[in-house]
Amino acid sequence: MKWQRMKPQLMREAAKERVRELNLRLKRLMPPSDADISSPPPVNVIRDEMHGHVAERAVITLTSRGCEWAHSRKGSGGCTMCGHYKGTTRGKPLDQRALFDQFRTQLQGLNHGSIEWLCLYNSGSFLSPEEVPPETRRNIYDLVADFPNIRRLTIETRPEFVNQSVLKEINRYLGQIEVEIGIGIETVNDTVRDLCINKGYGYSEFCAAVDLINEHHLKPLAYALMKPAFMTEYEAILNTLCSVAHAIESGVKVVSIEPGSIQDYTLLDYLRRGGCYDPPMIWSVIEVVKMINHMVTLGDSSLKFPNTPELRMGGYVFFPVPLEFSQNCPECNERAMGLIEQFNLKNDISVFEGYQCACRGQWLERLRDRKPPYAVRIHSTLDELEQKNTISSFIGR
Ligand code: SF4
Ligand SMILES: [Zn+2]
Repeated sequence: MKWQRMKPQLMREAAKERVRELNLRLKRLMPPSDADISSPPPVNVIRDEMHGHVAERAVITLTSRGCEWAHSRKGSGGCTMCGHYKGTTRGKPLDQRALFDQFRTQLQGLNHGSIEWLCLYNSGSFLSPEEVPPETRRNIYDLVADFPNIRRLTIETRPEFVNQSVLKEINRYLGQIEVEIGIGIETVNDTVRDLCINKGYGYSEFCAAVDLINEHHLKPLAYALMKPAFMTEYEAILNTLCSVAHAIESGVKVVSIEPGSIQDYTLLDYLRRGGCYDPPMIWSVIEVVKMINHMVTLGDSSLKFPNTPELRMGGYVFFPVPLEFSQNCPECNERAMGLIEQFNLKNDISVFEGYQCACRGQWLERLRDRKPPYAVRIHSTLDELEQKNTISSFIGR
């Protein structure tokens, strides 16, 4: 049946199915993996704000078998914005020691005296026993605990892998270290998370994991995706604000806003090639940061509410490196990125004062864009791109 003649619920389900199938197809079109488990990606060392001072943060990415949710054998194709899968072995099992050896090698290359914060990413869920075997996980914790001057460790996971046992284990091995556990809330809008992001879990599962992490006195961190597939610029601003507000209410201690970027062989890449998606402009990102600041202080930045979480601007350190990031215009991009960096160092919105550029007019124009309900816009956009044969630009690349 043509989607135009379907009842709303059926149209919605058909839209979800179309997105899922396309997402999966894009993953299957990827050239064979050339991930080298003996040579993980270089470590990024960044300066960042931590408990009121500027700390050195090392971002370590392990070349892994990839996120279970993204494996095509599970039939999901993963989340529609996520390109991590390309840099993994894509489900091919690794030797038991491979992840540990990579981590040890990467740690050896760091300046041990100066790094206070380690972010350890495995292009998926660190707490999944299939992705990181429990013994490897514990060996990694041992190395982290022995790392001199380390004060904070950040890991990421899907909520289904958060349970009493893994959290107790973290406390047993890393009791002296602040451990942040990052989970993608992405959006508080279940329709968007389900249809546009293909996340595979709901807000209630996110909240249950946050509760458990708090019960164990660990630190829950929420990632909020700014501008998922099929969303307008204007909706992206409102949606991020709502998502951050709900993340705060759920009890997270840190919110990281992740502006959408174009990662290879993802649905966002497909929409971008067909002219149906642009990453959010940095103007939108700045606006959201200002509004959130206003929201949590009610306009008086000297107010500090007890449950006010830390706010970070993420989304600029990824592996593989995205094809395109959130940006404004060539005249001011560098300046805008510098301001975001400064914001992350000082957590002070005054860094954006005085920032002006002619491209602000283009942003205001973009905010006028309006679209029909999600199921309708998904079907009509995908119809348009099928007619343009956008998929052909992924074949034989
Ligand atoms: S965003 Fe996270 S859960 Fe989704 S596919 Fe990527 S690694 Fe997996
Ligand atoms: Zn500009």
